[in-house]
Amino acid sequence: MTDGTTRAARLAHPLARDALRQITQDRGGCIRPVQLRRTDLDTGQVTQILIPCGATLDTTCPACAKRARSLRAEQCRDGWHLENEPADPAPAPDDQQETWLTLRAHAQVRRDQAAAAGEDTAELDQLIAELDDELARTGIRGSLTRTAAGTADYQQAGRARRARSTRHRQDTPDLPRRPVSSRTTGKVYTAPDGTRYRPSMFLTLTCDSYGRVRDDGTPADPGSYDYQRAARDAIHFAALFDRLIQNLRRYLGYDVQYFAAVEPQRRLAPHVHVAFRGAISRADLRQVIAATYHQVWWPSTDTVRYDTGQAPVWHEGTGRYVDPDTGELLPTWDQALDAIGIDDQPLHVARFGPKFDAQGDAASATSRSTSPNTSPDATAPTPTRRPTTPPGSWMRSATNPAHRPAGTGSATASPPRTRDPA
Ligand SMILES: [Zn+2]
Repeated sequence: MTDGTTRAARLAHPLARDALRQITQDRGGCIRPVQLRRTDLDTGQVTQILIPCGATLDTTCPACAKRARSLRAEQCRDGWHLENEPADPAPAPDDQQETWLTLRAHAQVRRDQAAAAGEDTAELDQLIAELDDELARTGIRGSLTRTAAGTADYQQAGRARRARSTRHRQDTPDLPRRPVSSRTTGKVYTAPDGTRYRPSMFLTLTCDSYGRVRDDGTPADPGSYDYQRAARDAIHFAALFDRLIQNLRRYLGYDVQYFAAVEPQRRLAPHVHVAFRGAISRADLRQVIAATYHQVWWPSTDTVRYDTGQAPVWHEGTGRYVDPDTGELLPTWDQALDAIGIDDQPLHVARFGPKFDAQGDAASATSRSTSPNTSPDATAPTPTRRPTTPPGSWMRSATNPAHRPAGTGSATASPPRTRDPA
């Protein structure tokens, strides 16, 4: 340092980076913006641009999470009562998305050339995976080549797709399936007095019991509590919920829209609050929930091969783990997954518990004057109870006594199809 200050004086100042981060955060700015380099192809001029990270978790970036949440609330308010299907033209990619898409295309060409020349593609696969993540972050829907599990799984020459048993589980009821139309709005009901309304649904779903718990959520009998199933259900809850929505849309035959928040209960089991546009009967819900499961195809964990006293060693040269005694290369995760055969059983099957809470909501009626008790159709849920929180705040219903303190939940949302406010 040549600025003449003493080390002690410099230490007295807050770290510049931390201070800057704090100021940015206090003023509602993104604290982890993505830096992009844009080259003008005509002039060759290079400019650096910063783009907000777009995170949806408060712990990642408070400003972006707050923006995302108000956008969702706005979309909810705008879209919930829509009576017509909003036009849904495929939007053209914006500048940022186009930049990533171009980089992604270049990377794919380089990867294909490398693969054709028999070269190692690991580094390019990694790059492509990162570019896909950036694309997903900009809101591009659908994936290019990656699997839902998030791992690069390319259809390489000589490497077939993993074979898994696709037989329907015998222990699960079958579900009738209808072609899903692109309709998103629920059915309109007409009361005898001619008032028309379009009810919606609130649903709370949870995983089954793993054993009795005390008031503080800890197991009453740790010896018999099914910790393993509890942990695995929690890890795969999001996938299970995705499957439920998929099944529900196929069963109902329309593209039902929802807002949802996943939250941990006091016993740490996740549960999900969902608001659906449109009424779904309890009988239908019960059937779809019972028929919904998610199979986890992971290698068997029955045998402990290495305990803490003798763990595998990382081998820098191969970038793989080796057996500490024999020096033998251990299989990678992908190889272990490939070794699962068509006759093997899934490691875990996640399901929802049989209990669920469904409430009809007549507040979203087309005509607000309709009495909530005039349900003219037996398939419409009887709107028994209004939600105790106003629309917009129920998504953060962490005041429910069954919940852990607020701030621990993560949210997933599939907003009704409205245009983002410009
Ligand atoms: Zn941000």
